[in-house]
Amino acid sequence: MKKIPFHKPWITEAEERAVVNVLRSGWLTKGPQTEKFEKQFSRFVNVPHAVGLNSCTAGLHLALLSLGIGCGDEVITTPFTFAATANVIEHVGARVVFADIDLVTGNLSADAVQKKITQKTKAVIAVHLGGLPCAMDELGRVCKKKNIPIIEDAAHALGASYRGKKIGSWGRVASFSFYASKNATTGEGGMATTCDARIAKKLRILSLHGLSVDAWKRYMPSANTYYTVDHAGFKYNMFDIQAAMGIEQLKKQKIFMRQRKVLWDRYSKQLSDVPGIMLPAEATDGNHGRHLYIVTLKTGRKNKIRDSIMLQMRKKGIATQIHFIALHKHPFYRKKYGFKANDFPNANVRSQSCITLPLYPQLSCADVDHVSHVFRTLVGQEMGLS
Ligand SMILES: *Cc1c(COP(=O)(O)O)cnc(C)c1O
Repeated sequence: MKKIPFHKPWITEAEERAVVNVLRSGWLTKGPQTEKFEKQFSRFVNVPHAVGLNSCTAGLHLALLSLGIGCGDEVITTPFTFAATANVIEHVGARVVFADIDLVTGNLSADAVQKKITQKTKAVIAVHLGGLPCAMDELGRVCKKKNIPIIEDAAHALGASYRGKKIGSWGRVASFSFYASKNATTGEGGMATTCDARIAKKLRILSLHGLSVDAWKRYMPSANTYYTVDHAGFKYNMFDIQAAMGIEQLKKQKIFMRQRKVLWDRYSKQLSDVPGIMLPAEATDGNHGRHLYIVTLKTGRKNKIRDSIMLQMRKKGIATQIHFIALHKHPFYRKKYGFKANDFPNANVRSQSCITLPLYPQLSCADVDHVSHVFRTLVGQEMGLS
C-alpha cells in the first residue's frame, strides 16, 4: 500500500550546504544570514521592513505589543484558525472577540467584524485561511472608519497576493510562519513585515530581550560594547542556521508555487463533479497561496461522516487533517468566554465538515489522482450520493 503523508518538506542539498556553512562559520546565532534573509524577504513581500523571528506566533505577539495593545483592550479575530492567532491576544492581557467567517471562503467576514467593533477595539487579526487572501479592501474600509489597525496572520499565505499587492504588505504588521509544514520552512521560524519604521524598530528590540543593540551589532568592529535594557523584551529572534535554510527555500518559492498550482488544479478537476462537497474557494482578486486544499462536506453540523472518511483514508495510507476545529469550541475559550458552539454558526459548520487533503510540491500527479479517487469513493459511500 502506498503511504501518502500529510506533508513532506522539500529540503535539498542546497539547504544542507547552507546549514553546514553556518555551522562551520563560527557564528551560529542571529547574524549575517538573518540580515540577508530579512532583506530578501522584505524584497519578496515588497515592504521596507522584515524582522526574522523564531515563530509566526512570536510575530503576532510582538505585533500586538508594538501597537501598544494590552489590558482592557479588545482584539477581533476569526475563530476558524490555529490556536496561536487568539492565544497571543490572551498573552497581552486583551480580550479575544471572535467574529464569524464567510461560509464559502472560510475567512473573516467584514460585516461580522463591523458588528463586533466597540470603543475598546484596538486591532483586527485577519487570517488568510489556507492561503486564500482575505478581502483586504472591505476589511480595510470597516477598520479605517474607526482607525483600527489590521494585523495579518500570514502563516498560510507566503506567495499570495491581493489586488496586485503581496499578502504581508496590506496590514500594519504581518506575520509569516516557517514551521515545518508551511509553504517554506526553516524547521521552526517566522518573519514579521511592516511598512512602519517605528513598528519595525519595536519588533526588533522586543524580539531580543528589549536590548538597545543586538549581539551581532556589538560584535562589529565599530560597535559599542555597551547596551541598555529598554524594555522587558522576549527571546524571539531568528538565528543564522534557520535563516540559511530560509534563504534557500525563498529561492525555490516560484517552483513551489507553480507545483502547488498544478496539483491544486488537478484536485479541483478530479473532484469538480463529486456531489455533496464544496471545493476550496479560488482567489477572485489576486493569487491564492495554495497552502491547504480544504474540502467542505455538505453535511452541516454533523461531523460523523467527515470523521469516518478521515479514518478510512488513514487505513488506506492517506493522511488528512482538520483545519480547524473553531477556537470558540475549545475548552479554554469556551470556559473563559462562555461560548456556545453555534455562537459562530459558519465557523461551527466548517469545523464539523472540513477535511484537508495532502498538498505539497513533492506530491506527484499520480498521488493526487490516487487521493482523489479514494476520497471520491468514500464520499459517495458515506454520504449515499454516488
Ligand atoms: C502555523 C500557524 C501559526 C503559527 O505559526 P508558528 O510559526 O508555528 O508560530 C499561526 N497562525 C496560523 C493560522 C497557523 O496555521
